[in-house]
Amino acid sequence: MSVCESTQLKAFNTFGVSAYAYHICIATSIESLLSIWQEAMGKHHPILLLGGGSNVLFTENFKGSVILNRISGIEIKESDTAWYIHVGAGENWHDLIIHLFQKQIYGLENLALIPGNVGSAPIQNIGAYGAEFKNVCEYVDFVELRTGNSIRLMADECQFGYRDSIFKHKYKDGYAITAVGLCLNKVWEPKLTYGGLAQFSREDVTPEQILNAVCEMRQSKLPDPVLMGNAGSFFKNPITSAELAQQIKSEYPDCPQYPHNEYSVKIAAGWLIDQCHLKGYSIGDAAVHTKQALVLINKGNAKGQDIIALAAHVRNKVAEKFNIFLEPEVRFIGSEGEIDAVECIS
Ligand SMILES: Cc1cc2nc3c(=O)[nH]c(=O)nc-3n(C[C@H](O)[C@H](O)[C@H](O)COP(=O)(O)OP(=O)(O)OC[C@H]3O[C@@H](n4cnc5c(N)ncnc54)[C@H](O)[C@@H]3O)c2cc1C
Repeated sequence: MSVCESTQLKAFNTFGVSAYAYHICIATSIESLLSIWQEAMGKHHPILLLGGGSNVLFTENFKGSVILNRISGIEIKESDTAWYIHVGAGENWHDLIIHLFQKQIYGLENLALIPGNVGSAPIQNIGAYGAEFKNVCEYVDFVELRTGNSIRLMADECQFGYRDSIFKHKYKDGYAITAVGLCLNKVWEPKLTYGGLAQFSREDVTPEQILNAVCEMRQSKLPDPVLMGNAGSFFKNPITSAELAQQIKSEYPDCPQYPHNEYSVKIAAGWLIDQCHLKGYSIGDAAVHTKQALVLINKGNAKGQDIIALAAHVRNKVAEKFNIFLEPEVRFIGSEGEIDAVECIS
């Protein structure tokens, strides 16, 4: 365990929002996680686990200890048909993909360049370009901080859904993910369902071509958090009744919609925001990105409250026009821990 000298969180959240914690500590092992937790409990301090800080918004100073999970390690085993990879929660997700590529282990290319740590990937079941974490997950290891008990959940026990898992519900507070197990088939199958990848032919496309295409598309569409603070898609794509989706489609035939199940349809949140002409709209230093309406950015010195006000405005405008209430994908962190993001912007 080591304690950072500064208590400023700006460098530890990709929104680049300024907020202070009481302590910022780095945990490189389960033992150090448990000892930081025990110390904080002794002082009645709240605890916040953080990976890359790419899916959080600090709404005010945090009155407790932030633990940066930096448990490392990549172990690779194989059978005749698959690769089995055990990865420490503190490894960087994209670096893992590149590391595996160098060993000619493929299957994660559609999820390239998603910021953050491996241990955070199961929490919201990260997804992009037609792939989701759940497709490659074998298990998730986590520890109950109060007792020190280690628990392993197999993928089918993790309740993975669209940007959702059991780690946002039953195992949210007082648990830390310490490692994940991935299973990648040796017979590689390209995933080309996403529009931008449909140009490739299944017969001769290579993993490198998909990796490069995904990286190029992401770099051209999404602002780089190093240059412009943001947390990627701010809102989830709303899932609406098939009836409402049909009503919108008849008025706006170009509205992007994807079947969710028999009764409901997923609608592109970025398109809804764009229809409200909100690109570039700003409150203080918080703004809707001019190229990608789903991304809210920090132009420099935006406060958490500016971003909340902007998100509330976006939600209201979309609700007025389409009767759809957007919900944040980003997790809101208040002074004592996570707060209800929907309530904050309602
Ligand atoms: C430019 C950009 C593009 C993005 N694109 C995508 C995308 O295409 N698809 C997608 O799904 N997401 C995307 N995201 C969102 C984000 O990258 C993912 O949600 C990522 O998995 C978050 O990882 P993190 O380590 O940064 O998590 P953090 O932001 O550090 O943490 C997220 C939440 O998990 C909790 N947490 C963190 N680590 C642990 C742990 N070890 N144990 C228990 N709880 C923990 C935190 O307390 C917090 O509540 C994007 C973000 C950015 C900035």
